[in-house]
Amino acid sequence: MSAGFRYLIPEQIFDELTEMVKKSEETKSEEDKHLYGWIFADRKENFGIVTGYTVTNEEAQSHVRPKSWMRMKKNKIYTMRKLKADKNADIVWQFHSHNDGIEELHDTDLKILNYLSTGVMIIITNSNILGWFFDKRETKKPLIDKMIFEIISE
Ligand SMILES: [Zn+2]
Repeated sequence: MSAGFRYLIPEQIFDELTEMVKKSEETKSEEDKHLYGWIFADRKENFGIVTGYTVTNEEAQSHVRPKSWMRMKKNKIYTMRKLKADKNADIVWQFHSHNDGIEELHDTDLKILNYLSTGVMIIITNSNILGWFFDKRETKKPLIDKMIFEIISE
């Protein structure tokens, strides 16, 4: 994701995802109200345009440290490849909800990104969707960039 890259999300998808977080906040217990899933996007010139999503867990615990870091990485790479092929998407990003509304990365999120060396983590709150791009492959100090999504109405 180079400088000048812009991220667009259709209003309907933005509303559905933030609404889902709002709903799970209201209806589920503290431990298992977190959503996990994947967002698909197409790349057109310097735009990343969200085209869809899939929720894989609607009742997840928040920020559980992986039992096996290596398996977590393998699973992630495998799932991303599979989803790219199945959904015919250029880009696949993993997302999870922060039902507390905090947009910053949690300690566990940072540890995961650090283990992966590079990647994107999308955070969904009840009122916003944003991403964090992380890359420490070529620098000692990791490069962390906030990805702001611009809402588009179709
Ligand atoms: Zn998090």
